[in-house]
Amino acid sequence: MKNILNSKKCLDNLSVISNEIDDIKNFLEAFYGEDYSDDKCDTCNDNSVGLSVYHYLINQIKSNELDIIEKMYSIFGDDLLVIIDGGLLNKEDILTRKVSFKKKKMPSLWFSIKTFLKSVPKVLFSSLRKGDGFFADKKTQKQRLSICKTCIQYQEGRCLLCTCYMKHKVKLKHAQCADEENKKW
Ligand code: SF4
Repeated sequence: MKNILNSKKCLDNLSVISNEIDDIKNFLEAFYGEDYSDDKCDTCNDNSVGLSVYHYLINQIKSNELDIIEKMYSIFGDDLLVIIDGGLLNKEDILTRKVSFKKKKMPSLWFSIKTFLKSVPKVLFSSLRKGDGFFADKKTQKQRLSICKTCIQYQEGRCLLCTCYMKHKVKLKHAQCADEENKKW
């Protein structure tokens, strides 16, 4: 049987993955606390934890995060095959970037400017009004970013919904996930 990466495989190997990959540990802690279960995600109803971890790995492959890709092969074996954009890729395909991955189209620059002008002053004003500082603590920043990395809207460091670079957005204390219907943080 072919060794193909899927959400069930991620779920079945959750404890090994979370030991090896800090972002996954942060993601699980953010959703479940120290005592997380390996069952369904209780925040986003239709996504299991396995599916989120699967998205995380696909996002890291597409972003060419070599250390994560290496860890993925050490966990699942060098014969692991990954389906991306309908194609079945092996380790060599992924590491040598023989294939180019389809990118989803980012919203326009004008959309980005509008979103920035609409959200950033609001977030800063919330901090001023509450008087509780502008920046989230380091643990919260890490947890937010780890959640984004498991999200299908995450592409090479940016969110497709708000177009923000997430490593910066997560630092703002009163910033929120851009998904209005299913806020993940
Ligand atoms: S802000 Fe929300 S929708 Fe955007 S990438 Fe992060 S988790 Fe996903």
